Amino acid sequence: MMKIIVQKFGGTSVSTLENRKAVLHKVQQAIQNGYSPVVVVSAMGRKGDAYATDTLIDTLKAENPSVSNREMDMLMCCGELISSCIMTAHLQQNGIKAMALTGGQAGIITDSEYGAARIKNIKTSNLFRLLEDGFVPVVCGFQGVTENNGNFTTLGRGGSDTTAAALGAALHAECVEIYTDVNGIMTADPRIVKNASTLENVSYQDVQQMAINGAKVIHPRAVEIAMSSNIPLIVKSTFTDEAGTVISNDRSNGNIGSDVEMSNKIASGIANMGNLVQFRVTLNAKDGAAGQKVFQDIANAGISVSFLNLSEKEAMFATFNDDADKTCKVLDTSGFEYVCNRNCGKVTVILAARRGMYGLMASFVTALSSEGIAILQTVDSDNTISAIIKEDNIEKAVRALHKEFKL
Ligand code: ASP
Ligand code: MG
Repeated sequence: MMKIIVQKFGGTSVSTLENRKAVLHKVQQAIQNGYSPVVVVSAMGRKGDAYATDTLIDTLKAENPSVSNREMDMLMCCGELISSCIMTAHLQQNGIKAMALTGGQAGIITDSEYGAARIKNIKTSNLFRLLEDGFVPVVCGFQGVTENNGNFTTLGRGGSDTTAAALGAALHAECVEIYTDVNGIMTADPRIVKNASTLENVSYQDVQQMAINGAKVIHPRAVEIAMSSNIPLIVKSTFTDEAGTVISNDRSNGNIGSDVEMSNKIASGIANMGNLVQFRVTLNAKDGAAGQKVFQDIANAGISVSFLNLSEKEAMFATFNDDADKTCKVLDTSGFEYVCNRNCGKVTVILAARRGMYGLMASFVTALSSEGIAILQTVDSDNTISAIIKEDNIEKAVRALHKEFKL
């Protein structure tokens, strides 16, 4: 039986010859360890670099800002095409039998929702045949093709992670390695918290909450796919030999198979994001009709809201900056009285254990209030507590929470 491993390399890892040598080394190591690797690559470099996704978008928008989504996707796919050919050339030059494949050639079939396509199925026969023939397929991340007419589609920004997880699931890989330029998933943004540390293990649920709440670690859709097929994801650096972070359902401290010591951590990490606007709408009706009208009007305008809270006297919610003016217009038109709080953001603590615990909210509020940070609203879930605060308080808040929750 073949042991398959999916190795995904991000934009920085494939951006220069020196970095591609490090990628080669990781592929060689996998082969030495008896694996048949399937490599997935992102477009080369970051914004400003010649073939980076952002550069391609800007180039096409400069020609026509309202170019159709189909053509935008087709152009974006070129970034990964270039990357996979160059990476393949490098592997071939070093004696590895590699072959570059588009998403379609790798069998990735999607719906036709350009810019945010969903994978419908993966036809694995071509990949399996190549693996059996001893090839290392180098698959373009972030892309697929539509079933009927083979149009190119993309899976949403950051979607190469999704490609890797989906291929891992379809090929029954032993694990999916997500290579990047940091050593793994950290307890907070290291630019904000100097002593943030790399997590050895973390659950799918916790990482998904980190990603949704603003940590730019991994695409939440990739986590969802890996979780539903129970494949471990390992986030690690291309440039070091560190073990990285294992994302799985195992909540132990990593002693799989032996006497497992359950983790006694309270929290997994602190996430943060900006660009939010909070709305507080005054309601008068006691029967819920006014609240109903607020949320229906917002929905009719196609505005997505979060931080939902409704009581007899007030409806509260948040939108992204981009939707704020539109939201004001909707509320004005309906004649509501409201407060619009701009320049907000949110901080979230991701709780590794909550059920049966007490005092977590008390700790959360203590951390923020001891720094004099006003909490505009909170919301909580099974494994998170979040607060809306002013954007310029975010860094202070993240540091205070990181300390309070002993991360
Ligand atoms: N190149 C794509 C992007 O920048 C996909 C990825 O990097 O995962 O969004
Ligand atoms: Mg990424």
